Amino acid sequence: MKRRQFVTGVAAAAGVAACSQESVECAGGGSTAQQTFEWNLVTSWPPGLPGLGIGVENLASRIEKASNGRLKIKIFAGGELVPALEVLDAVSRGTVQMGHDSAYYHRGKVPAAQYFTTVPFGQTVHEINAWLYYGGGLELWRELYQPFNVIPFPAGNTGVQMAGWFNKEINSVDDLKGLKMRIPGVGGEVMQRAGASQITVPASEIFTALQTGAIDAAEWVGPYNDIALGLHKAARYYYYPGWHEMGPMLQCTINLDAWNSLPADLQEIVSNVCQAINVDMMAEYTWGNAVALEQIRANPNVELRPLPDDVLRLLKKLSEEVISDMAAKDEWAARIKASFDEFQRIVIPSQRIGELAYMNAREL
Ligand code: CA
Repeated sequence: MKRRQFVTGVAAAAGVAACSQESVECAGGGSTAQQTFEWNLVTSWPPGLPGLGIGVENLASRIEKASNGRLKIKIFAGGELVPALEVLDAVSRGTVQMGHDSAYYHRGKVPAAQYFTTVPFGQTVHEINAWLYYGGGLELWRELYQPFNVIPFPAGNTGVQMAGWFNKEINSVDDLKGLKMRIPGVGGEVMQRAGASQITVPASEIFTALQTGAIDAAEWVGPYNDIALGLHKAARYYYYPGWHEMGPMLQCTINLDAWNSLPADLQEIVSNVCQAINVDMMAEYTWGNAVALEQIRANPNVELRPLPDDVLRLLKKLSEEVISDMAAKDEWAARIKASFDEFQRIVIPSQRIGELAYMNAREL
């Protein structure tokens, strides 16, 4: 698709090449201040989903308001325009200008993309924000996506998730063997090494897969989203913590030709609104999860349980193996792992005497 098809209004195609692809602060396409843009945004999410879905709606409406209507964004839920798990491909091809989904859905094509959602036993929401905005993570992410003609923005986080819904009890590492579980990304590979089988299904199909027994277990997000999908009606045991997704980042992706066609002020608005949504979504999840958890605790058909320590120990060991194997096979994964590990080496001791020490003190 040609660049001019991305924009509406006069003189749209003029002067759009002035911008270097990787530069966020580039001067824009020389478009006029009156020019308006109508973009399409595809997501992986079911329509109106709390958190992820609401976040995208806020993203679009804030950009439209902040730009005084100069950039209008039409949202399509997962599967409406393109398949739910092919958002990045659609943005890359220029089928749409914008997408909102998770980087790790694309690790089949781009293994290192996993880092920009989360890796098991990896970064909390505070840590991933700090790594991306201040630790060099975002620069690596943008370089990784450049060959796909896409620029990514951090755009939301769910915070620490749940280990998931299970119709079988997990009392020891042996209970993982033969378990059929919906769990995407590297977390799924870890479960496979623990003897389970990984099944990837989009959000809209999790409930049916659990209820019919096609799968024994599924992770989705946490109480707020899981109740919205009705998962508490499809499984009995609700295990925590989300060892595989402790601060997963959502991504807003923009086709680089579309991005470069925007004047500098609209680029600044898009960039700032993505950052605002990143904060806002986490606040929505913190509150929404707490309220939903109260309902789950009151439900006699659900048992809330921690994963046993020896299960977590095994999953941690296997996670380290899977992540090391990834780095051995993929140059990009090795490069990003080096940045990630160095950041964590410095940040974890500070978190221990900060967030962790306080959280422990509050429980005394
Ligand atoms: Ca999840």
